[in-house]
Amino acid sequence: MAEEPRRSTPKRIVLKMSGEALASAASDETIDFQTVHRLAAEIVEVRQQLGVEIAIVVGGGNIWRGMTGATDGMDRATSDTMGMLGTVINSLALQDALEQLDQPTRVLSAIPMPAVAEPYIRRRAIRHLEKGRVVVFAAGMGAPFFTTDTPAVLRAAEIEAEMVLKGTHGGVDGVYSADPRSNPDATRFEEISFMEVISQDLRVMDLTAITFCQDNGMPILVFDIMTPGNLLRALRGEKIGTLVS
Ligand code: UDP
Repeated sequence: MAEEPRRSTPKRIVLKMSGEALASAASDETIDFQTVHRLAAEIVEVRQQLGVEIAIVVGGGNIWRGMTGATDGMDRATSDTMGMLGTVINSLALQDALEQLDQPTRVLSAIPMPAVAEPYIRRRAIRHLEKGRVVVFAAGMGAPFFTTDTPAVLRAAEIEAEMVLKGTHGGVDGVYSADPRSNPDATRFEEISFMEVISQDLRVMDLTAITFCQDNGMPILVFDIMTPGNLLRALRGEKIGTLVS
């Protein structure tokens, strides 16, 4: 018999993925097209089967992270701007894959670049979602000194998403009591509160993003996005990953 779902399917979500989710261990490419196409196919499946409105924030860590340059002496704001531009490259790759699957997709950039993407306008983002388009938020917040975790949760609140799905790619399928890669006794939480995440210093998302979600009551589901079918399972409410609320 099928397991009772633990949650109802949300109407609107923000999916946060790291840029590295678009790369592949099997190839040296910064963006591995087989991987991008598999992810896109799963997103389309969820749109079509469950009708969930999906906005995506993809990081840029496969291309550049601001801290990399800053550690080597670069101006931090300039280095972070390079990171934000990396997210635009990833967003265009995702858009291309989604549209090849006939899923209308709009990239909305926080840094205005009208020849490349629409500017981020909150009400326009909501309109696209209502029309069944997938929206990809590019260029983070358009401001340095953040990672893409914070714009992911900020945009989720702005567009009144029900939750943020944080897709992991490193083989860790949720929030654990310790790092499961180095500690065999680590156990996965099925649910955990923001307060526990903060007080136990558990690595879920950046602290700025976590406290934002706590202040604004935005739940986060942390799950392994690299396992095929997991996005659909997560949105059907099956017991995978960890729900932070
Ligand atoms: N970034 C930024 N402001 C933002 C979002 C991102 O300056 O609002 C820069 C920052 O340098 C970050 C880089 O873009 O390191 C890439 O994003 P992130 O590290 O979140 O990528 P991920 O690790 O998720 O792939």
